[in-house]
Amino acid sequence: MNNNIITVTSPLLPPLEEFIPYLQDIWNRKWLTNNGYYHQKLENALCEYLNVPFISLFTNGTLPLICALQAMRISGEVITTPYSFVATTHALWWNGIKPVFVDVDISTGNLDPEKIEAAITPKTTAIMPVHVYGNPCDTKRIQEIAEKYGLKVIYDAAHAFGVEQDDVSVISAGDMATLSFHATKVFNTIEGGALVCHDKETKQRIDYLKNFGFADEVTVVAPGINGKMDEIRSAYGLLSLKYVDEAIEKRHQIAIKYREAMKNTNGIRCLNDISGVKHNYSYFPIFINEKEYGMSRDALYNKMKSAEVYGRRYFYPLISTFSTYRGLDSSSRANLPNAYKMAEEVICLPMHHALNENDLVRIIDCII
Ligand SMILES: *Cc1c(COP(=O)(O)O)cnc(C)c1O
Repeated sequence: MNNNIITVTSPLLPPLEEFIPYLQDIWNRKWLTNNGYYHQKLENALCEYLNVPFISLFTNGTLPLICALQAMRISGEVITTPYSFVATTHALWWNGIKPVFVDVDISTGNLDPEKIEAAITPKTTAIMPVHVYGNPCDTKRIQEIAEKYGLKVIYDAAHAFGVEQDDVSVISAGDMATLSFHATKVFNTIEGGALVCHDKETKQRIDYLKNFGFADEVTVVAPGINGKMDEIRSAYGLLSLKYVDEAIEKRHQIAIKYREAMKNTNGIRCLNDISGVKHNYSYFPIFINEKEYGMSRDALYNKMKSAEVYGRRYFYPLISTFSTYRGLDSSSRANLPNAYKMAEEVICLPMHHALNENDLVRIIDCII
């Protein structure tokens, strides 16, 4: 690979020599998957690290979304955001649920709670918001609306690993929340994910669902799926967890430098840190106002590319514009003006633990 290329992210890889003893132990145990030693250890370690009562590990971050909807028997219509990774809406579709898109708040990119009520119909059963870029949704307001209308809330918290608001873990909000441990995320298990819930019975049900619905050798209690995480990736996660705080702190320092470097550049908007929030700096989106900046978002994106600085246009195109969803009434531009605007202006700058001073100079030179 060309060493000059600056990628938008780089996986947090634990030192190989530290991983080898874990592999040796797995070889000795000869137990590779199905709720093994490291699977249980990682579930416990994550409960402690994230300060949540129950976690069920999955083989990726999409299956817990699908299983959360199954576990709560969600049906009909679900209110969700178009400004996310496409898996959020796909999880609804795979459950035969109609997604109803509601616009986002332009200051955060998160579902705008004040627009939720107008989208509720007799068929609405749940709300599925996303803590986009790891910035917490207005979880209090969303909970109030859910209670008023008798709806469930499932957060796609794929970006919110380790995020806290007023010392409470953001992923503890809602009836359930899901995480992704994909290689590109702040904490990764190569591929992986988890479902967070609040009582033992629900955790039990989730554990059945991710193992074909087996409750014991001869009893299948639900049309489950195979969503299990194996021992090798569980052990990798357990080791990686030791390095995640350090990686988040490096991201924090980079975010500070980005903000400082761009504060006097017209036409560039950064999202503000939210007071009382311990952020994870999972992404660093900037929003380009073409008139004020003097160049379009795509022109800047391409200019960066030709300097071998790879940003990503997360989240462009909007989920609501993809062929599966563009025919829905709620997909119109008129219904989603803020989401459209953000999708058309955004570039996520390179953001990961391994960026050095020289990289930052090159990135910032492209932009200001
Ligand atoms: C990454 C991501 C997912 C999916 O996770 P996978 O682990 O890749 O399946 C879901 N939702 C959001 C918002 C994501 O960013």
